[in-house]
Amino acid sequence: MTMTIADRNANSSYDIVIVGGGMVGISLALLLNREASRDASLATSTQKPWKILLVEAQTIINEPQSGVYSSSPYHSSFDARSTALSWSSRTIYESIGIWPELKKHLSAIAQIHVSDRGHMGLTRINAEEADVDALGYVVENQWLGSVLLKQLEQTDVEVLDNAKVETIAPLADGMRLEIVTADNPPQTIHSKLVVIADGAGSATAQKLGIQSQSTAYGQTGIIANISLEKPHHGVAYERFTEQGPMALLPLTDFKGRPRSALVWTQPSDVAESLMAADEQSFLDQLQECFGYRLGRFEQAGERACYPLALTTADEQVRRHLVVMGNAAHSLHPVAGQGFNLSLRDAATLTDTLAATLSGAESQHIGDLGLLQDYQQRQSVDQRNTVLFSDSLPKLFGLSSSIVALGRNSGLLAMDLVPSLRSRFARFGMGMATREAGHG
Ligand SMILES: Cc1cc2nc3c(=O)[nH]c(=O)nc-3n(C[C@H](O)[C@H](O)[C@H](O)COP(=O)(O)OP(=O)(O)OC[C@H]3O[C@@H](n4cnc5c(N)ncnc54)[C@H](O)[C@@H]3O)c2cc1C
Repeated sequence: MTMTIADRNANSSYDIVIVGGGMVGISLALLLNREASRDASLATSTQKPWKILLVEAQTIINEPQSGVYSSSPYHSSFDARSTALSWSSRTIYESIGIWPELKKHLSAIAQIHVSDRGHMGLTRINAEEADVDALGYVVENQWLGSVLLKQLEQTDVEVLDNAKVETIAPLADGMRLEIVTADNPPQTIHSKLVVIADGAGSATAQKLGIQSQSTAYGQTGIIANISLEKPHHGVAYERFTEQGPMALLPLTDFKGRPRSALVWTQPSDVAESLMAADEQSFLDQLQECFGYRLGRFEQAGERACYPLALTTADEQVRRHLVVMGNAAHSLHPVAGQGFNLSLRDAATLTDTLAATLSGAESQHIGDLGLLQDYQQRQSVDQRNTVLFSDSLPKLFGLSSSIVALGRNSGLLAMDLVPSLRSRFARFGMGMATREAGHG
């Protein structure tokens, strides 16, 4: 995959520059490209579709790799993790035409099974009850990345990889960026709008004096793909233990063997020893914690770990600027909401900016009022999702018996009251939040 600015000297002025080509940056680029192409036929000489540049610090490749998929990007956003996509994410990916391709290696969640280790509470949430085909879809990040990059190659979005933003400064009519690459002299670029999507604690946002607040959970999330003795039948397991929550999400089979994606939250010191343990000892400890609902755990794939924190940026919009993805809000993964929320942010931003293309909006894409409108439209969704993702690990991480009683009766109540379950399910699918966010 060749990815460079077509003419590094001439193409120095853009409508939109996205800094960060992770899951969020690329998805946003595809959404914006959809709008720009849709409106290309309406474009007049004074109103051209957007010219978009994506700047990524790492090398972006979409070439054969060893592993499950014949082709995958080697890229930190697209590592050995898996992502549970919500219904809202499915709708967004359908709108850019990549859902049929993604579906080739997606596992639909037919049921969510919630349990509490050492306590009696247990609940099951079914897709049928929520009146949907599936409660979510689990995709390996490598496959998601491969599909996203393949689609990006089909667009007019220019990509500059192996490149970093050295400086960024506001101008009256946009932002000026100085970009450095390994083998070229620094390049100065002008853009009417810059979207910063370069990950949690964004270095680019900091260059503009935008700080972020970070609260560590004191926990680490360990991920690995686990080969199972028994098929998972599309069940996603969420298990709360005194050390922290764990999830086993259904994956597509590999070489005829059933697999689940593990996200195991542990106090950081315990996680360190689990990471250092040999495969059998790791599997034994996992089995002890999870039990035998999926039979014996047979193999563990590559393990990786992530120190967990809630990190939010102090500002998300300024004139000519939006902060998005983990750079805006990075959440605890237990509820599987971080990326889904960012994708809804990206869809809403695209929708807000699209009004300027159709002529329905007299404002310019960098206008503060327009960008504040975007933020306002997403504020309820963001607030609810951050709160939900933050409260779940705290509630279930507490071990006092009163709290344990409360959470067990909560789980039991969910099992007894179908409407509670379906409300929980709708939240997980990104429906309740989106409905709330859009009034
Ligand atoms: C264990 C785990 C499980 C998760 N599971 C789920 C789930 O099931 N569902 C869900 O919705 N979410 C989940 N998440 C959250 C999800 O992974 C994140 O929301 C998502 O990765 C955010 O993507 P991003 O593109 O914003 O950031 P990143 O993935 O961090 O990407 C940022 C990109 O910017 C690039 N970059 C950095 N600095 C610069 C620079 N100066 N210039 C140019 N480029 C730069 C980086 O190289 C990188 O490619 C999970 C997270 C974890 C840790």
